Amino acid sequence: MTLFPSDQLRCSLVQDNSKHNSINYVLSRADGTIPEEVEIGQDDWTHRYPREKKFFNWKFLDHTPDMKAKVQIRAFQEAFNSVQKITELSFDYEKNVNVKTDLTVEWLEDIEKFNSKLSVLAHAWLFYPNSNKNGIMEFNDTKESKWYFTALGWPVEAYLVDPINFKKGDKNLDGTLIMRGSQPTVKIAMHELGHILGLRHDLINRGSMMYPSVSRSYINNKIQKKTFYWDSITSIPRLTESYGSSFMIDEHLSRWRGRRIRESTYRRHA
Ligand SMILES: [Zn+2]
Repeated sequence: MTLFPSDQLRCSLVQDNSKHNSINYVLSRADGTIPEEVEIGQDDWTHRYPREKKFFNWKFLDHTPDMKAKVQIRAFQEAFNSVQKITELSFDYEKNVNVKTDLTVEWLEDIEKFNSKLSVLAHAWLFYPNSNKNGIMEFNDTKESKWYFTALGWPVEAYLVDPINFKKGDKNLDGTLIMRGSQPTVKIAMHELGHILGLRHDLINRGSMMYPSVSRSYINNKIQKKTFYWDSITSIPRLTESYGSSFMIDEHLSRWRGRRIRESTYRRHA
């Protein structure tokens, strides 16, 4: 088996304890050290898949109990579709877990195997030639973790996020259910896929999928932000420069984007 280079970087999503409802992306080496020279701008990562590679298959290794299997597959398909729709790349789901795939989504229950701190929600490796870590996206599904994943990050009943301090049906003084934010799987998968394909963080544009922080805001228990697609200022041109543009006409593209963020897509399976 090929070993991975010690300077291969991964992007980890970590809870920002100083801010409510905010999570940050941090780049680090496997040993946990943070390279100083990396977070400097929005140029592409030094390495990426060869331009002639157009087809990627992907599979799940385990599922999280947080979402139904169909909802999870849908969430990752939406994330991969977000690249497929704007580039010449295509992504296919592989049911057979024994097939070797380009991308692997793994939910890990064992913190040793996850190989990150408990405060890390997910991580993925930035592409590096011949590394066996390429294309791996890992999620923290350990019992000790206080994350609850939904497709789009809907607020959920508090007991699902924090079963120690809350129980099912707990209500606020005004009689409404006590809710907590969940983690937006589609958005996380899109960000990490961006790295896998060779994008660095975009430190300038707050709305960018590659911006190294995610804030969630809710109004009346509905998600306020609708930024579940690539920003057209930086991310889309960077992806299409590397991997070619799709042949979709603009009108179809924007219609597809509008459809994609509709909650009903997921509610059907929930
Ligand atoms: Zn990142």
